[in-house]
Amino acid sequence: MLIVMDQKATQAEIDSVVAAVESKGFVARPIPGGDRVSIGVLHNKGVVEPSLFLGYPGVKDVVPVTRPYKLVSREVQPEDTIVRVGDVGIGSGHFTIIAGPCAIESEKQALTIAAAVKRSGAHLFRGGAYKPRTSPYSFQGLGEEGLKILARVREETGLPVVTEVMDETTFDLVVEYADVIQIGTRNMQNFSLLRRAGQINRPVFLKRGMSATIDEWLMAAEYILEGGNRQVILCERGVRTFVHHSRNTLDLSAVPVVRKESHLPIVIDPSHAAGRRDQVIPLSRAAAAVGAQGLMVEVHHQPEESLSDGAQSLYPQQFEQLCRQVEAIFGVHSGIDPKR
Ligand code: PEP
Ligand code: MN
Repeated sequence: MLIVMDQKATQAEIDSVVAAVESKGFVARPIPGGDRVSIGVLHNKGVVEPSLFLGYPGVKDVVPVTRPYKLVSREVQPEDTIVRVGDVGIGSGHFTIIAGPCAIESEKQALTIAAAVKRSGAHLFRGGAYKPRTSPYSFQGLGEEGLKILARVREETGLPVVTEVMDETTFDLVVEYADVIQIGTRNMQNFSLLRRAGQINRPVFLKRGMSATIDEWLMAAEYILEGGNRQVILCERGVRTFVHHSRNTLDLSAVPVVRKESHLPIVIDPSHAAGRRDQVIPLSRAAAAVGAQGLMVEVHHQPEESLSDGAQSLYPQQFEQLCRQVEAIFGVHSGIDPKR
C-alpha cells in the first residue's frame, strides 16, 4: 500500500504517518517524488485498511499496490529514477554507455582500452576483477590487483568504474574500489548478496538471470530497494534458449515491459546476449530504438588474445562506429542530444 502525502505536507506530518505505520507493526518507507512524498507500507500480511491512515494531517490519498514488487513498481513511483554516478546520469533522458573488457588482465590492457572507449564517448568503464567462469580451469580474474587497476583507470581517465561482486567474502573490498557494483546473471537470485547490496550507498547494476522471468528479476531488485538502496540499474543480457546462432537470445521485449512496470533504468548488454562480435552493433541499434537507457559493451584492443569473452569483444574502431550509430538513433527517438 502507498500513502500519498499532500504536496504541502510538512516533515513533521510525514514523520507522524511513518510512526503510525510502524506502530501497527508494518515497515514505512518514505519515497521522495517529483513534487510530493509518498510512503510505502511494507511487510503487511493482508490488505491494510486505508481508513487507518486517511485521517492523518498531510495525507492526500491511500492507494493499494497491486504488483508483487512494491518499491520498484511504477505504482509506487511514477517518475523515472535517474541513477547518478559522479557527473553521469543513468535513466530518463540519458543514453549511457558502459564499455571495457570482460576482465581486467593487466594495467596496460585496461588503460589502453579505457583511453579508446573514452575517446569514442563511453561514460563509464567496465572490467571484471572477479570472474564467474564456467570452468574452474579458466582465468578467474586478478582479484584485488584488478580492483587496484580499476582505481588507476578512474584516476587516469576520470571514468567511473563498474565491476562485478561475486560473493559476500569480497563484498566490502569491491565496494571500496567500485563506483557501481555489478551483480551478474548467475547471482541474480543470490538473496543474501542482494540484501547486502541493499545496505550500501552505491549504485547496483543488476543483470537479469539467464532463465529469470521479468517478475523474478524485478523481485530481485525489490530486495535491494527494500534494504534501503534505491540506486538500481537493470540490465537485460540475453536469456537461455534453444538457438545456436547466438550465445543467448536478447529479450528486447523486456525493455518496454520493464519501462512500463518500473521506474528503474534499463540497460542492454548486447555482448553477452550475442556471444559474437558480428551481432553486437545491430543489437545495440535495436536497443537504442526500443527505448533502452544505455548499453554495456565489451571492447578489447586484442580480442584474439583476451583471457575471456574475446569472441564477443568489439575492436575499438567498431566501438566507435557503434557509438555514432546509437547516438543518432537515440537522438531521433528522444529529441535529446546524447552528448548533452
Ligand atoms: C560480465 O558482465 O562480464 C558477465 C559475466 O556478465 P553476465 O553476468 O551477464 O554473464
Ligand atoms: Mn564477459
